[in-house]
Amino acid sequence: MQRVFNFGAGPAMLPEAVLEQARDEMLDWHDTGMSVMEIGHRTDLFAPLVEKTEASVRELLSVSEDYQILFMPGGASLQFSLIPLNLLGNQKTADYVNTGIWSKKAMDEANRYGQMNEVTRVAEKEGRLCIPKQSEWQLNPEAAWLHYTPNETIDGIELHSVPDAGTVPLVADMTSCILTRKIDVSQYGVIYAGAQKNLGQAGITLVIIRRDLLKQAASFTPTLLNWQVQAASRSLYNTPPVYAWYIMDLMLDWTLKQGGVSAFEKFSQRKSEKLYRHIDAHAEFYVNRVHPDCRSRVNIPFSLVNDSLTPVFLREAEEAGLVFLKGHRLVGGLRASLYNAMPEAGVDALIRFMSDFARRLG
Ligand SMILES: *Cc1c(COP(=O)(O)O)cnc(C)c1O
Repeated sequence: MQRVFNFGAGPAMLPEAVLEQARDEMLDWHDTGMSVMEIGHRTDLFAPLVEKTEASVRELLSVSEDYQILFMPGGASLQFSLIPLNLLGNQKTADYVNTGIWSKKAMDEANRYGQMNEVTRVAEKEGRLCIPKQSEWQLNPEAAWLHYTPNETIDGIELHSVPDAGTVPLVADMTSCILTRKIDVSQYGVIYAGAQKNLGQAGITLVIIRRDLLKQAASFTPTLLNWQVQAASRSLYNTPPVYAWYIMDLMLDWTLKQGGVSAFEKFSQRKSEKLYRHIDAHAEFYVNRVHPDCRSRVNIPFSLVNDSLTPVFLREAEEAGLVFLKGHRLVGGLRASLYNAMPEAGVDALIRFMSDFARRLG
């Protein structure tokens, strides 16, 4: 068997240790004589997993008791709708930092429930893409929340400082960057992240909500999608995706064992710097269009100066065990996603391949 390096933007590769443990526990989880998939979510057998997963999130991100932790279905995209349903209350508008495709989708969905305000969008800085400074944003002091996407997975753009939302609750889609850098949860009203990038597998979404924000759901909010109902039932209102929950738990254990968020912050910095350095040093062959101030540490889109070589690059990379490097269909080119489970050896192998490819075809 030959494992490959998966540079796809999601689902991400998982650590071998996690996959091996899941394999070893498949037929008999914790001496129950069953797999975790077969265990009732309300049993005494499953309850410790619920508690442990929540405790791991609290430990990794230093989440205080002022915040509720939810595990929800529907991916990050469902939260695009749940934010207005649960937070708009009697208000009519909220602010959206439009830094790319995901933040635009979040804003479009919220626009079904009110009139959202785009406070800024990506602009050119010294001929490259970047997010304007907050002093240039059109913030509305009456906004019900300020939403932003710290890392734009498709566009490879990252906001490296936390917006100052004043007294307006700050809402962040951290699907692609959670656990890759330290955050101060107390700066946020709501943090959410689909699991399939740094938290495990698709099917479960982590939501962290300041408890005082739990009371404003619109009366027509479907019960299952009401954050307060989910909070009251400890995310067990209906049958949750127990296997995805279990894989998230293993992934959080693994993250803690590797040194937690501060270790992964250094790791993502080191991996991404290496790759950007290589791209910039071979500007006659490879380009990344994002300004260094706004470059993502996690998703690195790049293209070949000679775009007609892209299919050749992808084919040969795949033969070398470097898979899913194709750029998103909306932006084209190439993209290397370096989530927490991507080992440094994967980045080194990609750089070696890129160097050899440029030498042969340049
Ligand atoms: C992947 C991604 C999403 C979509 O997540 P789903 O769980 O598939 O809905 C949303 N936002 C960001 C920033 C992402 O990277």
